[in-house]
This record gives sequence, C-alpha cells and structure tokens, in this order.
Amino acid sequence: MTRTLPPQAWAATPGGGAVLGALDAANGTTRLVGGAVRDALLGLPVTDVDLATALSPGDVTKRLEAAGVQVVPTGIAHGTVTAVTPDLIMEVTTLRRDVSTDGRRATVAYTDDWREDAARRDFTINALYARLPGGGIDDWFGGLDDLGAGRVRFIGAPLQRIAEDHLRILRFFRFHSRFGRGEPDAAGLAACAARANDLMALSRERIRDELFRILVLPRAPETFALMLSLGVLKPVLPEILPARVPNLAALAAREAEWGAEPDPIRRFAALLPQRAGLGAEFGARLRLSRRDAARLDAFGIPDPLLPGDPHAAAYFSGVEVARDRLLLLGDEGRSAWEALANWEKPPLPVSGKDIIARGVSAGPEVSRRLQRFERDWVASGCPLDAARVDALLDAALG
Ligand code: ATP
Ligand code: MG
Repeated sequence: MTRTLPPQAWAATPGGGAVLGALDAANGTTRLVGGAVRDALLGLPVTDVDLATALSPGDVTKRLEAAGVQVVPTGIAHGTVTAVTPDLIMEVTTLRRDVSTDGRRATVAYTDDWREDAARRDFTINALYARLPGGGIDDWFGGLDDLGAGRVRFIGAPLQRIAEDHLRILRFFRFHSRFGRGEPDAAGLAACAARANDLMALSRERIRDELFRILVLPRAPETFALMLSLGVLKPVLPEILPARVPNLAALAAREAEWGAEPDPIRRFAALLPQRAGLGAEFGARLRLSRRDAARLDAFGIPDPLLPGDPHAAAYFSGVEVARDRLLLLGDEGRSAWEALANWEKPPLPVSGKDIIARGVSAGPEVSRRLQRFERDWVASGCPLDAARVDALLDAALG
C-alpha cells in the first residue's frame, strides 16, 4: 500500500480541477476524505468523491458558483453541498464536530479543526485526508498503519462510539468484511456483541441498507457467520440461523461460477427458512419495496416446474425469479439456468376474441378455455407457427 495518494484521474478533469481550484485545495483548505482516500490508497477504483473543507457552506457555494460550477444544497443543514460538473459529482462538507448524539442522529457544529472532524468519523481507515495535488496524507489516528495491516478499528473507545451511533455496529462488520485481514479487532468486536440490542433503536430502513450491503460482499458468508455466532442479529432478525450460512456460501460460490451478479434479496433468501409468506413477514419488518417483497415470497416456495421445465417456469413467474430460484436450488439447476440466458417471454398468440370466433359464447368459459390453451401451449414450448397454434387451440376447445 502506498502512503501517498496515487494520481487521481478525476482530479485532472476540467470539472475536478475547477472544484479543487475554487476551494483552494492546493493550500489544504479543502481535502479529499473518507472512502475515496482509503480506496485509492488500496489501488481500488474511487467511486464517490467526498471533500472536506474548512470553508463555510455559504463560502463553498459562492466560490463554486463563481467558477461556473453548479451547486445543489443536498445536505446544507449539516454542511454538505453537492458540486455538479459535466465530469463528475462531488460532495463537499464543511468540517464538523458532534455537539450531541443520541445513537441515531447527531447535532453538529462547524469547526476549523481538522482533527476534530476526523475524530467524529467511525474507523481509523475512514478518517484519512489527502492533499491535492501531491497526495500527502493527514492521519491522526493510525489509519494508514491499520489500512496496511487490514485492521478495522474504531476511533476512540468502541462502546462510546457505538453509544453515539448504533449503526456503527453493522458498519464495523461491513468494513471488516471488505478490508479486514485476520481476526477482527477484539475490543471493537466485543463492543458490537455487547451492544447488539441497541440496533433495535434504529430505523428498519437503515438496518436493511447496511445488512444488504454486507450481503453482497464477497466475504458475506464469513461475516454473517461471525455476526450470528455473536448474536448480533438476534435482536433484529432472530429467524436467521447459523445453520443456514453454508447455504449462503454455496449460493455465493454458484453466483461466481455461473456468472450471476450478487443480489441482496436472493442472498437474504438463502439465509431464511424455506416457507410460504416470507415476503409479508420480512417485507414489513425491513420496509422492502413491493417488488423485493414479491421476490422474497417467490423464493420461499419451490417451483415444481424447476429445474425440469425452465421455460414454463419463466413464463409463469418471470425470467428473473426463475433464474434466482435455480441459483438457490443448487447445481442441478445449471442447465436450466443456461437455457434461460437469452430467453424472453413470447406473447400468447391467441386471445379471447379467437375463442369467441370459434363459437364459445362470451363469459367465464372463454377465460377457462384460454387458460387451458395457455397451459398446453407453454407445456409444448410456446410454438408460434400457425399450424401448431391451431392444433393446440382445437385441443383446448375440444
Ligand atoms: P463506501 O465505499 O461504503 O461508501 P465510505 O467510507 O465512503 O465507504 P460512507 O458511508 O459513504 O462510507 O461515509 C463516508 C465517510 O463518512 C466515512 O468514510 C466516514 O468517515 C464517515 N461516516 C459515515 N458514516 C459514519 C458513521 N455512522 N459514523 C461515523 N462516521 C461515519
Ligand atoms: Mg461513500
């Protein structure tokens, strides 16, 4: 790992240059912070550019607008504005310190002390600041050493930091999953285990977002095994049992082998008992979207058409649900999975009108016949040539 920031392509774009120039980055008035510094030092792609600045939000806005940069006051109440340029979007946040906290939200005040701004961040590896140009790093809490050693360590006393913001319990496991090597930091781990009940004070959306972000990580099985062994999830999701973790591990391996993107709902389903009604059960508890709840529901009930008849399964449940079910099913689903690779649901070549035209009088009988035709047509592989469609229609009306 380097100890200076490697050259950043975004900083050399006209938009990046304009923002850094307007906010006086060359003198250290504005610095790159957080995930962007951490990821760049590890040689990972930088996705979100977060800047910390000693300038007030009003001053930031004035300077950016004078430089022709569009400014959106996204979080102006807590000191964040978004700089929008054709090249990239950057978040600019004025240095802050916590005035009071209650486990869920913090009241903040602006400060001109960089160390204070660093001290309110969660982990040492997330509290690094980089000077641009040049790439010199400010590191008040040993974050560079921790990053190099793969240590996710709270800044300050873990119990106190968790009392300030309970979400840090889940963030500890998420960042350890991403960047940790070897055993997790013992004091941090013990504090997370001891305070697991505090998670219940958080909104379900925030818990869901963190858990789903952990679920799609490459080391999710290991991390869930760790959280479950410490009882961290018991207060919020007692249904998840350690015995289901191998199922998640098998799914993760299968996704990699079959070329499927990790998906949080699919991975979540792998950890749950197989039973009807999962969508209703967890949809409300985790504030899932209607669509995600419906997918979860589908994963609780095996589809008798799989793996034997993938096209019929996909026709009735949708390609995505069928493919997800196959991934969850196991290796016997592989060829059915391949069979659905570029498959699209064909349109039903017959309508109620065609059935009426053949002498069935309008009414419920029409839809009964149509359903029968659909079932037989799908079972025959959805043929579209007229002769076969006719023959199937004859059979459905006979
Ligand atoms: P990611 O790649 O997951 O976005 P990140 O480090 O950018 O990682 P964010 O959640 O985007 O994480 O937060 C940006 C920065 O804000 C963090 O690096 C950290 O310094 C600080 N931060 C975010 N959430 C908290 C928190 N709950 N407590 C303390 N500091 C936090
Ligand atoms: Mg981020």
